[in-house]
Amino acid sequence: MNRGILLGITFSGLIFGFYGGYLIFSEFHDKKSSMVGEDIVAPTNILAVTKTNGDSFVYLKNIGTPVIKESLLNNKKIIVSSNVTESKDQGIFFPVGTTTVTWSLVNNDKIIATAYQNVTVIENPLYTKTHQNNKRVMIDFDDGYASIYNLGLPILDKYNIKTTQYIICGNIRNFQTGYMSWDNIRSMKESEHSIQSHTISHLNADSLSNAKIKEEYGQPLIDCFSENGINGIKIVAFPLSAGWDDPEIINIIDDTYEFARGSSTNNVFQTHCDKSSIYSIQKNCATYTSMEQNELNMFNRYNILGWKHDVKQRQVNFDDALMFSEFIKFVNSASKNTETETLEIPIIVYHRVVKDNSSSNPRFQGVSTSLLEAEMKYLADNNFEVFTAEDFGYDEVNNWITIMPHE
Ligand SMILES: [Zn+2]
Repeated sequence: MNRGILLGITFSGLIFGFYGGYLIFSEFHDKKSSMVGEDIVAPTNILAVTKTNGDSFVYLKNIGTPVIKESLLNNKKIIVSSNVTESKDQGIFFPVGTTTVTWSLVNNDKIIATAYQNVTVIENPLYTKTHQNNKRVMIDFDDGYASIYNLGLPILDKYNIKTTQYIICGNIRNFQTGYMSWDNIRSMKESEHSIQSHTISHLNADSLSNAKIKEEYGQPLIDCFSENGINGIKIVAFPLSAGWDDPEIINIIDDTYEFARGSSTNNVFQTHCDKSSIYSIQKNCATYTSMEQNELNMFNRYNILGWKHDVKQRQVNFDDALMFSEFIKFVNSASKNTETETLEIPIIVYHRVVKDNSSSNPRFQGVSTSLLEAEMKYLADNNFEVFTAEDFGYDEVNNWITIMPHE
């Protein structure tokens, strides 16, 4: 048996060499002996959702195509095959759960290389259809990691989704590895992503002196951006969810910014801040509870609430299918919006973008490219309106945050 297989491989190699020329043959030969599987690279894994709750399958029109090693492309004897079949009108059938698609390179009826792609389908978690007015979200990315630009931006561009980027200005200024460059940031701004601030050094506000807070949050932060061609900063996001409850920090922010993004929470952001807090039932987004200006309102223009995607991912053990379901529930959780007024807006806060979460080191964890792809596709397919910080305004008469409807 062993001899038969060996002969088979040698034979197909020879045929290949005979038709393709010596050079290609030798490359092919080296390839087989060194890295099996690299001749063909499967398309990225796919996460999909059924059309409606209760469905047990979905038809997908396009699951991508594998990448074939360039030197093999010219050989007409080699064909690519997979174990799924596509029907012309409907696409490819996938049941709920994970299906492994096997992609093969076949030469003279012999498989010479294989690669695998997982297609995971989740059941749509929705029981009711969300009204179009409530399909409004905001997509934030914190910290300005290079992976947002390198891995995330191609996906965002594919679905034409504009984000708000909270940049740690000192890290970019110091050319810290793992972060975007000023060129990256300026090009995102040019293509209508909103660039906002995330302090100079990402320190915990609770442990800073007043002078240091002024440096980290005040004018030096605005200058750090403007010196590098970024103007119009109006929001600062608190690093490590600290500082939003400290009146001294809020006073510094009040001099410099229109808004601040605050604590980590599961809440959908209420633009009128008319919500019951542990202290009181609020009526508006006024910064302080009274004219004495010493007690902060829990919800105010300097505590805009976001949903930390990473925190949720850790809670579901980085299970992308479960996380996709949580995402769908969250983005559909607004219920009060009207045609002209955005009263509730789910704000999703991402950090790093990674190829997968196989590492246990938090520095290599984040939203996987296949999960981000599924989530952005979901927003595009369901006609969600995606807002950025540029759309935020403040109604000084009513003490409300306003979000301008798109034209
Ligand atoms: Zn941060």
